[in-house]
Amino acid sequence: MLFKKKKLERQISLQKKVLDSILSYCLMKHPNEAILILKGNSKHGHVLIDGLVIPPFNYSGPTFAGFPQSFLPFDMSYVGIVHSHPTGSANPSLTDLHNFFGVVSLIVQYPYGDDDIFAWDSSGSLIKLVIL
Ligand SMILES: [Zn+2]
Repeated sequence: MLFKKKKLERQISLQKKVLDSILSYCLMKHPNEAILILKGNSKHGHVLIDGLVIPPFNYSGPTFAGFPQSFLPFDMSYVGIVHSHPTGSANPSLTDLHNFFGVVSLIVQYPYGDDDIFAWDSSGSLIKLVIL
């Protein structure tokens, strides 16, 4: 018998209340970039995001945002980060891919509407994003 390897169908689910918090945080930080840690759980390629953490000692400007990862407590519920792009598209920059954290990176582009948020994996490929 031949078993076909099923391609892992990846999907990111984001709770609407978390999306609303992300979008208002991006607006608040504008014209600087906003950066937040995504909390949730990940199994079998499916990531559910149900909370946010403001990273300690985070810094940002119009074209960058980051935080020292050495100050983060070890927490299995950290699934990735979200940050904003006040100018340009929601495509991840090379720096974004180099600083990849967790399993998913959400990027919000200006003007931070419900359709301005996209999910990426560590190789810069788009992942399906569903709002719950
Ligand atoms: Zn970026």
